[in-house]
Amino acid sequence: MRTSLVAANWKMHGTQAFARQLLADLDKGLASSNCSAQVLICPPFPYLSLVGEAVGGNLALGAQNLSEHASGAYTGEVSAEMLLDCGARYVIVGHSERRSLYGESSQLVAEKYAAAKQSGLIPILCVGESLEQREAGKTLDVVAEQLAAVTELALANPWQDAVIAYEPVWAIGTGKTATPEQAQDVHRFIREQLGEAGAVTQILYGGSVKANNAVELFAQPDIDGALVGGASLKAEEFVSICCAANE
Ligand code: PEP
Repeated sequence: MRTSLVAANWKMHGTQAFARQLLADLDKGLASSNCSAQVLICPPFPYLSLVGEAVGGNLALGAQNLSEHASGAYTGEVSAEMLLDCGARYVIVGHSERRSLYGESSQLVAEKYAAAKQSGLIPILCVGESLEQREAGKTLDVVAEQLAAVTELALANPWQDAVIAYEPVWAIGTGKTATPEQAQDVHRFIREQLGEAGAVTQILYGGSVKANNAVELFAQPDIDGALVGGASLKAEEFVSICCAANE
């Protein structure tokens, strides 16, 4: 049995005051609801410790990125160990914004994934196709290639203690959501690709998830929760998404 996980990706939004207020509102909203889902907050690096002070119970801390290196002369980078020090349990790797804006290849993403796993962090590996790739009928090939970069590293139990997020690039921040059927088809495919571990690995959907589409997405058998960008910056909306994961 897989539990539901709803993860907030705050990206590069807000200030310290905004983070404090959002956290307080989330805390209140989650406490007064009956949400059983695990909830994960991935704030910008400077606010990790601030959010880290509030986590516990069903609320966990994650980061949005990490270095593939353990330590050394890598100006501006943050290691897995540092994230653990701040109280993080999860880290997002291979978000499409990292792949497209910062040129992260599937191979680099796989190295970051390995660095996270080796340190004991749970990586959330983002995979997904562009609109052009979907229209060319290449969705499953693209996702398979992104997953294969990890298997090629020949890690022991590569999919154990890991989360996958299927995030069609055309649905991120655009207001366009994959239909529940489109998402389910890719989630089922991903689960098959994971082999035995697929039965227990949480596979999240991401791409314009809102309170008004979460219930039908979460009703799909292979969708175990969501990675939420824009809607995670509004406490009430995000709490509604978390609660939809109960149903
Ligand atoms: C994301 O950034 O991972 C994401 C899914 O964003 P949004 O919910 O805004 O589409």
